[in-house]
Amino acid sequence: MKIITYSLRNHKEKSEQYYKDVSVFTDNVLEKAYTELITFLQDICDFISSSKVEKIRSKDEYIIDFLALSVFYKLYIGKAKGLHTIPQRILKNISYKRDNKYLKTSIDHIRGILITLFAVHDKRDSLYDLNSIEVLIKWMMAVGDFKQEVTRFNIITSFLTEKDEAYVKNFLDTILDFGEWFQHESKQALGIYTCNVEKFLEENHKSYRYKEDFVFCGRKEVEYHLNMVGAEIMNRAFKEDFLNTRRKLLLLPACMRKAGSSCKAVKTEQGYSCIGCRQDCRINELTNWGKNNNLQVFIIPHQSDAFSNRKIKLGEIGIIGVACVLNLLDGGWKAKELNFVPQCVLLDYCGCKNHWDKNGVLTDINVKQIERKLSRCINTF
Ligand code: SF4
Repeated sequence: MKIITYSLRNHKEKSEQYYKDVSVFTDNVLEKAYTELITFLQDICDFISSSKVEKIRSKDEYIIDFLALSVFYKLYIGKAKGLHTIPQRILKNISYKRDNKYLKTSIDHIRGILITLFAVHDKRDSLYDLNSIEVLIKWMMAVGDFKQEVTRFNIITSFLTEKDEAYVKNFLDTILDFGEWFQHESKQALGIYTCNVEKFLEENHKSYRYKEDFVFCGRKEVEYHLNMVGAEIMNRAFKEDFLNTRRKLLLLPACMRKAGSSCKAVKTEQGYSCIGCRQDCRINELTNWGKNNNLQVFIIPHQSDAFSNRKIKLGEIGIIGVACVLNLLDGGWKAKELNFVPQCVLLDYCGCKNHWDKNGVLTDINVKQIERKLSRCINTF
């Protein structure tokens, strides 16, 4: 099997050990967060209760927000400070028009060029304050790959706007230290599953210059780990509500189709529906299995096709979204924003033609992990 960046199987037949390892490491992350960030977690919950900027979430979910801010801040603040106002505004305006499928191809072509020319050059600046977070958010809006993160970080910014300078500095010092700890420890705990990320970045990433996925495919190893742990925290937080939903969907990516572009699946409102043209296709297998397990299965060609942008009635539909690691957090947050109840399952490895391999690598998942999502048992390894 070709490992492009990550593999949950780590040269084994199945990815069972990964799910044990990520569970244990997530326990460590939560324990550390509740020791070191508890004051900020309580303060942001108090702020949200009184300001009502959103329906209050669990503290675990705000831990993901803080962790994501610390990781992105460290990785991207230099690039954010190096992006000038005019290209920032142009990129922001065109990035937010990508949802229009008729314009997407042309917009992505222009985005790729502008991002490579203007948005990936570091400006060293050790100053950090509330304004720095706002600069980071502007860069993320310009690049366009971070829509949900922008929403989450805007909430943190509103929270910090009410605080004095000393509080903001203490907050940033603390979460950046937490991010440092996470980067080091996640490498120890999960690095065996992301062993090819560095090699891919060194050898292949330059070929993505001027392409719209230059930033997406250039994500660092710590971002893979952030998504792994973030998905695990989200899954725990939403599990009970997911089990209580009346209707459940399993959304699978097109890179799992055995017949590739000759797949005969039929377009429906929710996605493509498998007609079973190949017995040996994993999607066919899961579609049949889903029929006996109250689970409707759809193929989603691209993450942006996964949800219409209409909110549904809260708690009515649960979705198990299957995606490659780098799409997990964004997908989970987007599902939650639209009132779906999400559970995330990782592709065991990536390989789609859109981003990772010109011929496409047939991808797969750990089917036991789907079964676990439908079970009330916490761990059935
Ligand atoms: S079995 Fe279903 S998903 Fe697989 S290639 Fe055929 S129609 Fe597509």
